[in-house]
Amino acid sequence: MSHPTQAALVYPASDDFVAGAHVNAAQYASMYAASAADPVAFWAEQGKRIDWIKPYTKVKDTNFTLGEVSIKWFEDGNLNVSANCVDRHMTTRANQTAIIWEPDHPDTPAQHITYAQLLENTCRMANVLKAHGVAKGDRVVIYLPMIPEAAYAMLACARVGAIHSIVFAGFSPDALGNRINDSEAKVVITADFAPRGGRKTGLKANTDAALLHCDDRVKCLVVKHTGDQTTWVEGRDVDVKAEMAAAAPYCSYVEMNAEDPLFILYTSGSTGKPKGVVHTSGGYLVYAAMTHQMTFDYHDGDVFWCTADVGWVTGHSYIIYGPLANGATTIMFEGVPTFPDAGRFWEVCAKHKVNQFYTAPTAIRALMAQGHEWVAKHDLSSLKLLGSVGEPINPEAWNWYNTHVGKGKCPIVDTFWQTETGGHIVTPLPGAIPQKPGSATLPFFGVKPVVLDAATAALQTETVAEGVMCISDSWPGQMRTLWGDHARFEEAYFSQYPGYYFTGDGCRRDADGYYWITGRVDDVINVSGHRMGTAEVESALVAHAMVAEAAVVGYPHEIKGQGIYAYVTLMNDVEPTDDLRKDLVKWVRQEIGPIASPDLIQWAPGLPKTRSGKIMRRILRKIAENDFATLGDTSTLADPSVVDDLINNRMNRV
Ligand code: ATP
Ligand code: MG
Repeated sequence: MSHPTQAALVYPASDDFVAGAHVNAAQYASMYAASAADPVAFWAEQGKRIDWIKPYTKVKDTNFTLGEVSIKWFEDGNLNVSANCVDRHMTTRANQTAIIWEPDHPDTPAQHITYAQLLENTCRMANVLKAHGVAKGDRVVIYLPMIPEAAYAMLACARVGAIHSIVFAGFSPDALGNRINDSEAKVVITADFAPRGGRKTGLKANTDAALLHCDDRVKCLVVKHTGDQTTWVEGRDVDVKAEMAAAAPYCSYVEMNAEDPLFILYTSGSTGKPKGVVHTSGGYLVYAAMTHQMTFDYHDGDVFWCTADVGWVTGHSYIIYGPLANGATTIMFEGVPTFPDAGRFWEVCAKHKVNQFYTAPTAIRALMAQGHEWVAKHDLSSLKLLGSVGEPINPEAWNWYNTHVGKGKCPIVDTFWQTETGGHIVTPLPGAIPQKPGSATLPFFGVKPVVLDAATAALQTETVAEGVMCISDSWPGQMRTLWGDHARFEEAYFSQYPGYYFTGDGCRRDADGYYWITGRVDDVINVSGHRMGTAEVESALVAHAMVAEAAVVGYPHEIKGQGIYAYVTLMNDVEPTDDLRKDLVKWVRQEIGPIASPDLIQWAPGLPKTRSGKIMRRILRKIAENDFATLGDTSTLADPSVVDDLINNRMNRV
């Protein structure tokens, strides 16, 4: 049991946890120093955690200079990612479970897929791809539910050297068609239907609609998952399961260069049009495997559950590539946290004896609003560690997670990273770095964060600092380019603060050197000359007993420059009243100060979110500004109908 230092609210891990951890405080300090002082020597050693067909002799060749940006790691090494995730475990763990598949409905039995079965299924899928002309360098779009075939498809692409691009199963035909066209994919892999939360989405029908706008030669590989009837285009549509069953059970893997692309993945689109992030093979896999092992303190035999969708980078790095490279047992969950009831996550944790559990603040807040009785019903004694990703976790949600899920004995790793970074870049290592609720704490090995003044770009050299977060040198998991648009890559990430990789996020660094992400720089609010991150105001609102979730944006205000417009979702069964509104304003005043008190509060039954659960403040800003005509790219919204509700009930500006 950890005892927080009340004044500073610091939560160290228990002595037992520290004793068993891969990395303790002293090791973190010395390894971090070594990684910063001599990245070449450090990564030359770490690169050996995966198998190389041809070992590398060059470790790092990276340049952040605008106009010449180029990032290469292990560039003369050759490997195959699929062989690293599957074949290399065959001698030691062929009969160990690689993937536990937990279906949407709890009455459907879970599947335990061993490494031997994973190899066979990946090979069969690879042979199907080859039969349809897929070869090294070709693009394959994957539009599947969270089913084992999604893992087979990813690994099969990697095996034959094809580049996959996964599109969330919740996206529209338009979003799918755009990505097929942008990546010039040869094949799209989909399913008949995607069951989720007891409902079914017609993926095949969506794919048919998308393909109307694509090249006629694009093949459509269909996984008959639910078995419901769909349309069928002879000559174009392929029954994947039938062809897998008939295909040879082995397929050799292609020797790939470390810098050959592994996948393209479009960002969530929280701030604008999604960007086609490109990750390559060698550096990405080394970094995904290392962060998976160290951040989650994963040990052989543990059962690891990352609740993300494989359509998000978190699913790529921490459901598939990191865990499988490490020979882990990883859970793939088809469903949602609230189906058939708000205890589903905890039921699954108990059922599969999950050791590490990794989810997003949005899910924690949603479950918190349902009450902790749902957690108490299930045996969570197997849990050793909890994780959070996607946005800053509000201290209120952190405390609930710690108390009710972790029972005060599980370290919580608040992992800050991006599609672009491939893996965690600022995160507690649980045995080494005491947590502070709401802080992502310290950098991972080899990552050099800096704080720059947002306006002047001046490097903040004092420990205590505030500004934008940039990274001053490359790490192996970093993205290499934007698909087909290297100029946009340089422009988006290297032009605003020359010489640095710009994350787009604001941050604060405290006296212990801990980083606190304050939100997107685009979202910063300027009230009467005071710059404010959205995270702090939102956390104050969420700390109120009746508030489940809050999103805050600025809107033009005659006197203050910008006023604060808050969208507030109340806890279940709480009545929205004017008194409560006044109460909330008073509350924020007390928590932060008068400068942060909301000018307008709108009750929001739902907030516009990306499929990965991030609030799209750019849309909320438009609503607050009374500018509905140009909401921008909304193709990545999880539920577009919430926007109409918010527009209809918007508050009048003063
Ligand atoms: P787009 O770049 O298209 O706007 P996006 O940034 O939402 O989309 P992702 O790459 O999925 O797409 O999200 C990365 C962002 O998520 C980070 O830049 C940061 O704003 C936020 N984030 C992720 N993890 C954390 C965390 N632990 N703490 C704070 N913020 C986080
Ligand atoms: Mg982003």
